[in-house]
Amino acid sequence: MKISDLFGKKRVLVSFEFFPPKDTESETILDETVSRLRRFEPDFVSVTYGAGGRTRAGTMSWTLRIKEKYGQNVMMHLTCIASSREDIDRIISDLKSEDIRNVLALRGDPPRDFPAHEIRDDFQYAYQLVEYLRSKNGFSIGVAGYPEGHVEAPSLEKDMEYLKRKVDSGADFVITQIFFDNRYFYEFMNRAARERIGVPIVPGIMPIINLGQIQRFTDMCGATVPDRIVRNMEGRNAADMFRVGVDGAIDQCRELLEFGVAGLHFYTLNRNGATEEILEEIITDVRA
Ligand code: FAD
Repeated sequence: MKISDLFGKKRVLVSFEFFPPKDTESETILDETVSRLRRFEPDFVSVTYGAGGRTRAGTMSWTLRIKEKYGQNVMMHLTCIASSREDIDRIISDLKSEDIRNVLALRGDPPRDFPAHEIRDDFQYAYQLVEYLRSKNGFSIGVAGYPEGHVEAPSLEKDMEYLKRKVDSGADFVITQIFFDNRYFYEFMNRAARERIGVPIVPGIMPIINLGQIQRFTDMCGATVPDRIVRNMEGRNAADMFRVGVDGAIDQCRELLEFGVAGLHFYTLNRNGATEEILEEIITDVRA
């Protein structure tokens, strides 16, 4: 089912993000995670894609597996940086023949160890991939948004102009980067309204259950971990950190639901524990 059609039908969509596992043990964990999270009846689940096509086989096979074995509505992420038009054409053809109609269209980051001769410049920005996918008909297209601005963007305003360009090129909805202070999201929504972006914008949620890991991750993606969260987490053992992080995410989701978000997209990191605990608390409000 096309995600763009679901927004009109449901008040709040729930979705889960996974990445293709690298070894047999991680595959077993992902199978268990997908299976356990099914009881929340997600509106869609997504599978990430490595820039330059590095996870192409894994992304495609897990997208299909989750669709066929677990009966889930799937969305495949697709990055375009360092990909040729022919590469993208092949993927579009595979998506169509497997009847996968939901795509998150991304630029991606140029892989650090990519040989220079393999870098193609057919697509430089995500909006070009959106335009291209739109010209191929039949896809529901999502794009990425950045409440704190993309790390390379010259200003928040410019970043929003570029987001508008993705929407004007044919994107149906936006999923955001993680953020840990809802004020970033509210300001982002104000900027989006000023730019007259009318498509649904879904906040990306990831609980902080391991301070060290999240700080490494946020350094890469530019999300700020507020000092009050760092102070509250420091010195705690793993179990306490998990509890504090999950409770914080429950509060964050409740506030976002009250604000009136179009969906909640959970970055699961392929684990079910935290996402399950959060949803157990909020699912009644989500489905109300
Ligand atoms: P773009 O929208 O093209 O923006 C990239 C940068 O260029 C921004 O700084 C923007 O302000 C600027 N820009 C845009 N248009 C223009 C223009 N016309 N002129 C000048 N500057 C411009 N990465 C992966 O590799 N695989 C994944 O599966 C993946 N999934 C993601 C899912 C979500 C929900 C999010 C939020 C991010 C995801 N990413 C993923 C990360 C993403 O690929 C990176 O953040 C990447 O650096 C930017 O991709 P983009 O699609 O936002 O790029």
